[in-house]
Amino acid sequence: MQQVISELLNGSFGEVKLQEPLAPYTTWKIGGPADCLLIPRDKDQLIRAVKLLHERQVPWTVIGRGSNMLVADKGIRGVVIKLGDALNAVRIEGESVIAGGAYSFIKLSVIAGKEGLTGLEFAGGIPGTVGGAVYMNAGAHGSDVSRILQRAEVLLPTGELATYHNEDLAYAYRHSILQTKQGIVTEAEFRLRHGDRKEIAAALAAYKDRRLRTQPLQLACAGSVFRNPEGHHAAKLIEEAGLKGLRVGGAQVSPLHANFIVNTGQATAHDVLTLIEQIIAEIQARFGVKLVPEVLVVGER
Ligand SMILES: Cc1cc2nc3c(=O)[nH]c(=O)nc-3n(C[C@H](O)[C@H](O)[C@H](O)COP(=O)(O)OP(=O)(O)OC[C@H]3O[C@@H](n4cnc5c(N)ncnc54)[C@H](O)[C@@H]3O)c2cc1C
Repeated sequence: MQQVISELLNGSFGEVKLQEPLAPYTTWKIGGPADCLLIPRDKDQLIRAVKLLHERQVPWTVIGRGSNMLVADKGIRGVVIKLGDALNAVRIEGESVIAGGAYSFIKLSVIAGKEGLTGLEFAGGIPGTVGGAVYMNAGAHGSDVSRILQRAEVLLPTGELATYHNEDLAYAYRHSILQTKQGIVTEAEFRLRHGDRKEIAAALAAYKDRRLRTQPLQLACAGSVFRNPEGHHAAKLIEEAGLKGLRVGGAQVSPLHANFIVNTGQATAHDVLTLIEQIIAEIQARFGVKLVPEVLVVGER
Protein backbone atom coordinates (compact mmCIF):
# COMPACT_ATOMS: atom_id res chain seq x y z
CA MET A 1 0.00 0.00 0.00
CA GLN A 2 2.81 2.38 0.96
CA GLN A 3 4.50 1.82 -2.39
CA VAL A 4 1.35 2.48 -4.38
CA ILE A 5 0.68 5.64 -2.38
CA SER A 6 4.10 7.06 -3.24
CA GLU A 7 3.55 6.10 -6.90
CA LEU A 8 0.18 7.89 -6.85
CA LEU A 9 1.73 10.92 -5.16
CA ASN A 10 4.70 11.10 -7.50
CA GLY A 11 3.02 10.20 -10.78
CA SER A 12 0.37 12.33 -12.46
CA PHE A 13 -2.83 10.66 -11.29
CA GLY A 14 -4.82 13.60 -9.93
CA GLU A 15 -5.46 14.77 -6.40
CA VAL A 16 -4.31 12.35 -3.68
CA LYS A 17 -5.47 12.72 -0.07
CA LEU A 18 -4.22 10.41 2.68
CA GLN A 19 -6.33 9.36 5.68
CA GLU A 20 -9.11 11.51 4.28
CA PRO A 21 -12.34 11.44 6.38
CA LEU A 22 -15.16 10.29 4.10
CA ALA A 23 -18.12 11.72 6.03
CA PRO A 24 -18.11 14.96 3.99
CA TYR A 25 -18.27 12.91 0.79
CA THR A 26 -21.55 11.26 1.77
CA THR A 27 -25.06 12.68 2.16
CA TRP A 28 -25.36 10.94 5.56
CA LYS A 29 -22.24 12.84 6.71
CA ILE A 30 -21.02 9.65 8.38
CA GLY A 31 -17.90 7.52 7.97
CA GLY A 32 -14.24 7.09 8.83
CA PRO A 33 -11.22 7.79 6.62
CA ALA A 34 -10.05 6.33 3.34
CA ASP A 35 -6.43 5.13 3.48
CA CYS A 36 -6.12 7.09 0.26
CA LEU A 37 -8.67 9.17 -1.67
CA LEU A 38 -7.86 9.69 -5.32
CA ILE A 39 -9.62 12.26 -7.49
CA PRO A 40 -8.36 11.86 -11.08
CA ARG A 41 -8.45 15.03 -13.17
CA ASP A 42 -9.31 13.30 -16.44
CA LYS A 43 -10.17 9.93 -17.93
CA ASP A 44 -6.56 9.17 -18.82
CA GLN A 45 -5.48 9.62 -15.19
CA LEU A 46 -8.39 7.43 -14.06
CA ILE A 47 -7.45 4.63 -16.48
CA ARG A 48 -3.75 4.74 -15.55
CA ALA A 49 -4.62 4.72 -11.84
CA VAL A 50 -6.91 1.69 -12.15
CA LYS A 51 -4.22 -0.16 -14.16
CA LEU A 52 -1.63 0.64 -11.49
CA LEU A 53 -3.93 -0.56 -8.69
CA HIS A 54 -4.59 -3.75 -10.67
CA GLU A 55 -0.85 -4.39 -11.13
CA ARG A 56 -0.12 -3.73 -7.45
CA GLN A 57 -3.23 -5.70 -6.36
CA VAL A 58 -4.49 -2.86 -4.21
CA PRO A 59 -8.25 -2.88 -3.53
CA TRP A 60 -10.27 0.13 -4.63
CA THR A 61 -13.78 1.46 -4.18
CA VAL A 62 -15.50 4.05 -6.35
CA ILE A 63 -17.70 6.68 -4.76
CA GLY A 64 -20.19 8.93 -6.54
CA ARG A 65 -22.17 11.45 -4.54
CA GLY A 66 -22.22 9.05 -1.57
CA SER A 67 -26.02 9.28 -1.44
CA ASN A 68 -26.65 5.56 -1.05
CA MET A 69 -23.66 4.61 1.06
CA LEU A 70 -23.05 4.04 4.74
CA VAL A 71 -19.30 4.29 5.25
CA ALA A 72 -18.27 2.33 8.36
CA ASP A 73 -16.66 4.16 11.29
CA LYS A 74 -13.18 2.73 10.68
CA GLY A 75 -13.30 3.90 7.08
CA ILE A 76 -12.28 2.19 3.85
CA ARG A 77 -9.00 0.36 3.29
CA GLY A 78 -7.18 0.72 0.02
CA VAL A 79 -7.91 3.49 -2.47
CA VAL A 80 -11.23 5.28 -2.78
CA ILE A 81 -11.72 6.79 -6.23
CA LYS A 82 -13.95 9.82 -6.68
CA LEU A 83 -14.55 10.85 -10.27
CA GLY A 84 -14.78 14.56 -9.50
CA ASP A 85 -14.87 16.94 -12.48
CA ALA A 86 -13.01 14.42 -14.63
CA LEU A 87 -16.12 12.80 -16.06
CA ASN A 88 -18.62 15.56 -15.72
CA ALA A 89 -19.55 16.36 -19.32
CA VAL A 90 -22.95 16.11 -20.97
CA ARG A 91 -24.12 16.22 -24.58
CA ILE A 92 -27.35 15.70 -26.43
CA GLU A 93 -27.59 13.88 -29.77
CA GLY A 94 -31.12 13.71 -31.13
CA GLU A 95 -33.16 11.81 -28.53
CA SER A 96 -30.06 10.61 -26.66
CA VAL A 97 -28.55 12.25 -23.60
CA ILE A 98 -24.94 11.21 -23.02
CA ALA A 99 -23.36 12.06 -19.68
CA GLY A 100 -20.13 11.39 -17.81
CA GLY A 101 -20.22 9.06 -14.80
CA ALA A 102 -19.77 11.95 -12.36
CA TYR A 103 -22.57 14.08 -13.81
CA SER A 104 -25.44 14.93 -11.44
CA PHE A 105 -28.51 12.79 -12.11
CA ILE A 106 -30.80 15.62 -10.98
CA LYS A 107 -29.14 18.12 -13.33
CA LEU A 108 -29.46 15.61 -16.15
CA SER A 109 -33.22 15.42 -15.67
CA VAL A 110 -33.45 19.22 -15.76
CA ILE A 111 -31.30 19.55 -18.89
CA ALA A 112 -33.27 16.83 -20.69
CA GLY A 113 -36.53 18.55 -19.74
CA LYS A 114 -35.33 21.90 -21.07
CA GLU A 115 -34.47 20.18 -24.35
CA GLY A 116 -38.03 18.83 -24.49
CA LEU A 117 -36.89 15.23 -23.95
CA THR A 118 -39.09 13.02 -21.78
CA GLY A 119 -38.14 9.89 -19.80
CA LEU A 120 -35.83 11.27 -17.11
CA GLU A 121 -38.44 13.09 -15.02
CA PHE A 122 -38.24 10.35 -12.35
CA ALA A 123 -34.60 11.35 -11.70
CA GLY A 124 -35.50 14.89 -10.61
CA GLY A 125 -35.12 14.07 -6.90
CA ILE A 126 -32.39 11.40 -6.94
CA PRO A 127 -29.33 13.20 -5.61
CA GLY A 128 -26.58 10.93 -6.96
CA THR A 129 -24.32 10.76 -9.98
CA VAL A 130 -25.01 9.14 -13.33
CA GLY A 131 -22.53 6.36 -12.42
CA GLY A 132 -24.23 5.68 -9.09
CA ALA A 133 -27.65 5.63 -10.78
CA VAL A 134 -26.52 3.14 -13.44
CA TYR A 135 -24.94 0.94 -10.74
CA MET A 136 -28.04 1.05 -8.48
CA ASN A 137 -30.68 1.03 -11.22
CA ALA A 138 -32.00 4.07 -9.39
CA GLY A 139 -35.67 4.74 -9.82
CA ALA A 140 -38.78 6.51 -8.59
CA HIS A 141 -42.36 7.34 -9.58
CA GLY A 142 -42.80 4.05 -11.47
CA SER A 143 -39.64 4.25 -13.58
CA ASP A 144 -35.96 3.50 -13.27
CA VAL A 145 -32.65 3.58 -15.15
CA SER A 146 -33.27 0.22 -16.82
CA ARG A 147 -36.17 1.76 -18.81
CA ILE A 148 -34.00 4.38 -20.52
CA LEU A 149 -30.38 3.24 -20.45
CA GLN A 150 -29.03 2.54 -23.92
CA ARG A 151 -25.41 1.76 -23.06
CA ALA A 152 -22.78 2.44 -20.44
CA GLU A 153 -19.04 2.76 -20.90
CA VAL A 154 -17.40 0.84 -18.07
CA LEU A 155 -13.77 0.87 -16.98
CA LEU A 156 -12.88 -2.68 -15.97
CA PRO A 157 -10.48 -3.41 -13.08
CA THR A 158 -7.82 -4.34 -15.64
CA GLY A 159 -7.92 -0.80 -17.03
CA GLU A 160 -9.77 -1.70 -20.25
CA LEU A 161 -12.89 0.14 -21.38
CA ALA A 162 -15.95 -1.97 -22.22
CA THR A 163 -19.39 -1.10 -23.55
CA TYR A 164 -22.32 -2.59 -21.65
CA HIS A 165 -25.67 -2.44 -23.40
CA ASN A 166 -28.88 -2.44 -21.40
CA GLU A 167 -29.29 -6.22 -21.65
CA ASP A 168 -25.70 -6.80 -20.41
CA LEU A 169 -26.44 -5.06 -17.12
CA ALA A 170 -28.86 -7.73 -15.76
CA TYR A 171 -31.14 -5.04 -14.45
CA ALA A 172 -33.69 -5.79 -11.73
CA TYR A 173 -35.18 -3.78 -8.85
CA ARG A 174 -32.27 -1.60 -7.59
CA HIS A 175 -29.87 -4.18 -9.05
CA SER A 176 -27.31 -4.25 -11.85
CA ILE A 177 -24.50 -6.61 -12.74
CA LEU A 178 -22.04 -3.93 -11.58
CA GLN A 179 -22.96 -4.91 -8.02
CA THR A 180 -21.28 -8.28 -8.54
CA LYS A 181 -18.75 -7.47 -11.29
CA GLN A 182 -16.55 -4.51 -10.44
CA GLY A 183 -16.21 -1.61 -12.87
CA ILE A 184 -16.45 2.16 -13.08
CA VAL A 185 -19.17 3.75 -15.20
CA THR A 186 -17.36 6.51 -17.08
CA GLU A 187 -20.23 7.46 -19.40
CA ALA A 188 -23.87 6.54 -19.97
CA GLU A 189 -26.27 7.07 -22.84
CA PHE A 190 -29.96 7.42 -22.09
CA ARG A 191 -32.51 7.05 -24.88
CA LEU A 192 -35.39 9.51 -24.36
CA ARG A 193 -38.30 10.70 -26.50
CA HIS A 194 -39.41 14.11 -27.69
CA GLY A 195 -42.17 15.41 -25.45
CA ASP A 196 -43.91 18.55 -24.35
CA ARG A 197 -41.61 20.92 -22.42
CA LYS A 198 -44.44 22.24 -20.26
CA GLU A 199 -45.66 18.75 -19.33
CA ILE A 200 -42.13 17.64 -18.46
CA ALA A 201 -41.57 20.75 -16.30
CA ALA A 202 -44.92 20.17 -14.58
CA ALA A 203 -44.02 16.54 -13.78
CA LEU A 204 -40.61 17.58 -12.40
CA ALA A 205 -42.26 20.26 -10.25
CA ALA A 206 -44.93 17.86 -8.95
CA TYR A 207 -42.36 15.21 -8.01
CA LYS A 208 -40.21 17.83 -6.31
CA ASP A 209 -43.16 19.16 -4.36
CA ARG A 210 -44.09 15.64 -3.21
CA ARG A 211 -40.53 14.98 -2.01
CA LEU A 212 -40.37 18.29 -0.15
CA ARG A 213 -43.59 17.39 1.66
CA THR A 214 -42.76 13.76 2.42
CA GLN A 215 -38.97 13.53 2.84
CA PRO A 216 -36.68 15.06 5.50
CA LEU A 217 -34.51 16.77 2.89
CA GLN A 218 -33.08 19.37 5.27
CA LEU A 219 -31.36 16.62 7.31
CA ALA A 220 -28.41 14.38 6.44
CA CYS A 221 -29.81 11.08 5.12
CA ALA A 222 -29.38 8.52 2.34
CA GLY A 223 -32.90 8.20 0.96
CA SER A 224 -34.81 4.98 1.54
CA VAL A 225 -32.86 2.68 3.85
CA PHE A 226 -34.73 -0.53 3.02
CA ARG A 227 -35.84 -2.08 -0.24
CA ASN A 228 -39.59 -2.57 -0.61
CA PRO A 229 -40.27 -6.26 0.07
CA GLU A 230 -42.42 -8.05 -2.52
CA GLY A 231 -46.01 -6.91 -1.99
CA HIS A 232 -45.18 -4.44 0.80
CA HIS A 233 -43.96 -0.92 1.36
CA ALA A 234 -41.06 -0.76 3.80
CA ALA A 235 -42.11 2.71 5.02
CA LYS A 236 -45.66 1.53 5.73
CA LEU A 237 -44.47 -1.50 7.73
CA ILE A 238 -42.07 0.62 9.79
CA GLU A 239 -44.74 3.24 10.45
CA GLU A 240 -47.34 0.60 11.40
CA ALA A 241 -44.84 -0.91 13.83
CA GLY A 242 -44.70 2.49 15.56
CA LEU A 243 -41.00 2.95 14.89
CA LYS A 244 -41.10 6.53 13.55
CA GLY A 245 -38.87 8.68 15.74
CA LEU A 246 -36.96 5.70 17.22
CA ARG A 247 -33.38 6.72 18.06
CA VAL A 248 -30.00 5.11 18.58
CA GLY A 249 -27.37 7.69 19.45
CA GLY A 250 -27.50 10.37 16.78
CA ALA A 251 -29.46 8.21 14.31
CA GLN A 252 -33.23 8.49 14.15
CA VAL A 253 -36.05 6.95 12.12
CA SER A 254 -37.39 10.09 10.46
CA PRO A 255 -40.68 11.23 12.01
CA LEU A 256 -41.60 12.44 8.49
CA HIS A 257 -40.72 9.36 6.40
CA ALA A 258 -40.43 5.99 8.15
CA ASN A 259 -38.02 4.51 5.57
CA PHE A 260 -35.49 7.31 6.09
CA ILE A 261 -32.90 7.32 8.89
CA VAL A 262 -31.63 10.81 9.59
CA ASN A 263 -28.36 11.90 11.15
CA THR A 264 -29.48 14.35 13.82
CA GLY A 265 -25.91 15.67 14.17
CA GLN A 266 -23.37 13.27 15.59
CA ALA A 267 -24.54 9.87 14.36
CA THR A 268 -21.95 7.16 13.81
CA ALA A 269 -22.21 4.29 11.35
CA HIS A 270 -22.54 2.05 14.40
CA ASP A 271 -25.64 4.02 15.51
CA VAL A 272 -27.22 3.62 12.07
CA LEU A 273 -26.38 -0.09 11.85
CA THR A 274 -27.79 -0.75 15.33
CA LEU A 275 -31.00 1.07 14.40
CA ILE A 276 -31.20 -0.90 11.13
CA GLU A 277 -30.85 -4.19 13.07
CA GLN A 278 -33.56 -3.13 15.54
CA ILE A 279 -35.95 -2.26 12.71
CA ILE A 280 -35.29 -5.56 10.90
CA ALA A 281 -35.91 -7.55 14.11
CA GLU A 282 -39.12 -5.66 14.96
CA ILE A 283 -40.60 -5.96 11.46
CA GLN A 284 -39.74 -9.66 11.33
CA ALA A 285 -41.36 -10.25 14.73
CA ARG A 286 -44.51 -8.24 13.96
CA PHE A 287 -45.21 -9.04 10.33
CA GLY A 288 -42.95 -12.00 9.47
CA VAL A 289 -41.37 -9.89 6.72
CA LYS A 290 -37.60 -9.67 6.32
CA LEU A 291 -36.46 -6.16 5.45
CA VAL A 292 -33.30 -5.91 3.35
CA PRO A 293 -31.27 -2.70 3.28
CA GLU A 294 -31.10 -0.76 0.01
CA VAL A 295 -28.23 1.39 1.29
CA LEU A 296 -24.80 -0.13 0.85
CA VAL A 297 -22.56 -0.57 3.87
CA VAL A 298 -18.91 -0.17 2.90
CA GLY A 299 -15.64 -0.26 4.80
CA GLU A 300 -14.30 -1.64 8.04
CA ARG A 301 -16.71 -1.87 11.00
C1 LIG B 1 -32.79 12.45 -0.21
C2 LIG B 1 -32.51 11.23 -1.03
C3 LIG B 1 -33.48 10.72 -1.86
C4 LIG B 1 -33.22 9.59 -2.63
N1 LIG B 1 -34.20 9.11 -3.45
C5 LIG B 1 -33.96 8.04 -4.21
C6 LIG B 1 -34.97 7.53 -5.10
O1 LIG B 1 -36.06 8.07 -5.22
N2 LIG B 1 -34.67 6.44 -5.84
C7 LIG B 1 -33.47 5.81 -5.78
O2 LIG B 1 -33.25 4.83 -6.49
N3 LIG B 1 -32.49 6.25 -4.94
C8 LIG B 1 -32.72 7.34 -4.16
N4 LIG B 1 -31.75 7.79 -3.31
C9 LIG B 1 -30.49 7.03 -3.17
C10 LIG B 1 -29.35 7.48 -4.10
O3 LIG B 1 -29.47 8.84 -4.46
C11 LIG B 1 -29.27 6.62 -5.37
O4 LIG B 1 -29.07 5.26 -5.06
C12 LIG B 1 -28.15 7.10 -6.29
O5 LIG B 1 -28.28 6.46 -7.54
C13 LIG B 1 -26.73 6.83 -5.75
O6 LIG B 1 -25.81 7.56 -6.56
P1 LIG B 1 -24.43 8.06 -5.94
O7 LIG B 1 -23.64 8.70 -7.02
O8 LIG B 1 -24.66 8.88 -4.73
O9 LIG B 1 -23.76 6.68 -5.54
P2 LIG B 1 -22.92 6.36 -4.23
O10 LIG B 1 -23.81 6.38 -3.04
O11 LIG B 1 -21.71 7.19 -4.19
O12 LIG B 1 -22.53 4.86 -4.54
C14 LIG B 1 -23.52 3.85 -4.59
C15 LIG B 1 -22.89 2.63 -5.25
O13 LIG B 1 -22.62 2.96 -6.61
C16 LIG B 1 -21.25 2.74 -6.90
N5 LIG B 1 -20.84 3.77 -7.85
C17 LIG B 1 -20.88 5.12 -7.68
N6 LIG B 1 -20.42 5.72 -8.79
C18 LIG B 1 -20.08 4.73 -9.66
C19 LIG B 1 -19.54 4.71 -10.97
N7 LIG B 1 -19.22 5.84 -11.63
N8 LIG B 1 -19.32 3.52 -11.55
C20 LIG B 1 -19.61 2.37 -10.91
N9 LIG B 1 -20.12 2.31 -9.66
C21 LIG B 1 -20.35 3.49 -9.05
C22 LIG B 1 -20.54 2.86 -5.56
O14 LIG B 1 -19.31 2.13 -5.57
C23 LIG B 1 -21.54 2.25 -4.62
O15 LIG B 1 -21.42 0.85 -4.59
C24 LIG B 1 -31.97 8.93 -2.54
C25 LIG B 1 -30.98 9.46 -1.69
C26 LIG B 1 -31.24 10.60 -0.95
C27 LIG B 1 -30.15 11.16 -0.07
